[in-house]
Amino acid sequence: MNSPRDDVLIVGGGVIGLATALALVEAGRGVRVLDAGRVGGGASHGNCGTITPSHAPPLAAPGMVAAGLRWMFTPDAPLYLKPRLDPALWRWLAHFAARCNLGDWRQSTRSRSLILADSRDRLTDWVGRYQLQCEFAEEGLDYVFREQANFDHYARECELLHEFGITSEIFGGEAYLRDEPALKPGVAGAVRFPGDARLRPDRYVAELARALRERGGVIEDQCQVESLHESADGVVVATDRGARRAGEVVLALGAWSPQFANGLGLRLPIQPGKGYSITYSRPLVVPKRPMVLKDRSVCVTVWDSGFRLGSTMEFSGYDTSLNAIRLAALERGAAEYLHEPVGATVQERWYGWRPMTWDDLPILGRAPRHRHTWLAAGHGMLGVSMSAASGQLMADLISGRQPAIDPTPYRMERFL
Ligand SMILES: Cc1cc2nc3c(=O)[nH]c(=O)nc-3n(C[C@H](O)[C@H](O)[C@H](O)COP(=O)(O)OP(=O)(O)OC[C@H]3O[C@@H](n4cnc5c(N)ncnc54)[C@H](O)[C@@H]3O)c2cc1C
Repeated sequence: MNSPRDDVLIVGGGVIGLATALALVEAGRGVRVLDAGRVGGGASHGNCGTITPSHAPPLAAPGMVAAGLRWMFTPDAPLYLKPRLDPALWRWLAHFAARCNLGDWRQSTRSRSLILADSRDRLTDWVGRYQLQCEFAEEGLDYVFREQANFDHYARECELLHEFGITSEIFGGEAYLRDEPALKPGVAGAVRFPGDARLRPDRYVAELARALRERGGVIEDQCQVESLHESADGVVVATDRGARRAGEVVLALGAWSPQFANGLGLRLPIQPGKGYSITYSRPLVVPKRPMVLKDRSVCVTVWDSGFRLGSTMEFSGYDTSLNAIRLAALERGAAEYLHEPVGATVQERWYGWRPMTWDDLPILGRAPRHRHTWLAAGHGMLGVSMSAASGQLMADLISGRQPAIDPTPYRMERFL
């Protein structure tokens, strides 16, 4: 039997699909979310949960091509490319490499900082308004360096960030250590971003889902969407549980978006950027706030409910293996910095696919040449940080309202 015709279908129940659904329901729309697995079970599950306007600079930066080539031969490097014949990957890399210059870096940084700043403010509002129990704390985030040259280089880059409204505080190693007993001696310096925050991402998605259901939104998990057809007045999607009809559809499929969009004649420049995390019980001595151990690119997040090491960026396609070398690199990196680098028990070893575009900007807006199909994907390394703004922007565009931020930089048309 067919389900009734919905107002808006959201395909993909990660942090972006759920945030879009919640903002739509708040705008008075009817919403059904469909997810092939369980909602929040994709990249949104085991990520580091940091909310980071400070991370506005994109991955494509001057010098990144040379660094990437060096790292190709280092299996535990923070950025790794598995060499293979894949035309979509090489096209993606060629565009990425072309953007590793100061002009494009600035352009991406500006557009990323706008959506990140809006999202940061909106998240505080959402946590209060919807009573989201997700271990949200507005305590800032620190970049910590043991290598003097890296610290000096980065402290200079922070000056560039002021141009984009990102404030930071610089600490010498000794001063920093006096206030942070979780760290071993030998810190060269640290940079604090007081505007950053953190939350527990699996709780955040669960709470978005709860708030959505309480407001009348419907969530169907274990419902794989196979194809989509537009008609004059709406869409029909075929799923493994029968057809679903709606006036509008939002594709929020994260790293799975390109395969699905291919069927609609849309070529989305998204590659899966694989990352890993290990979650432990909370050690006795933990950092006071989330930190990135910069020389090793390991992110450390602490909650009352646990402790997570995460990071690494691997372009290895849709590879589902848990790479032991990369997991070990997280623990090794943490052990260089922290007195207690791991907790007593491992709760989860995890990987996720970040949906990476080559300009590091999400794709938000109506799908080109489509009337009722919308795209909300490509959030890369910052989908949690950008979630509230992305959801609101999508809801405003679909409802024909004036959005809070200019949607132009995020439109799919920039790739055509
Ligand atoms: C190690 C790591 C650390 C990270 N740390 C941070 C961080 O600290 N801060 C931050 O902001 N971001 C972080 N990120 C990035 C963040 O996790 C992602 O940007 C974000 O989760 C993407 O959300 P999404 O909703 O687009 O995709 P996903 O969460 O992957 O959701 C896509 C959903 O689509 C569903 N789906 C797929 N195919 C179908 C289909 N055919 N039919 C129906 N449903 C389908 C999947 O089941 C999935 O639930 C990190 C990522 C990783 C890997």
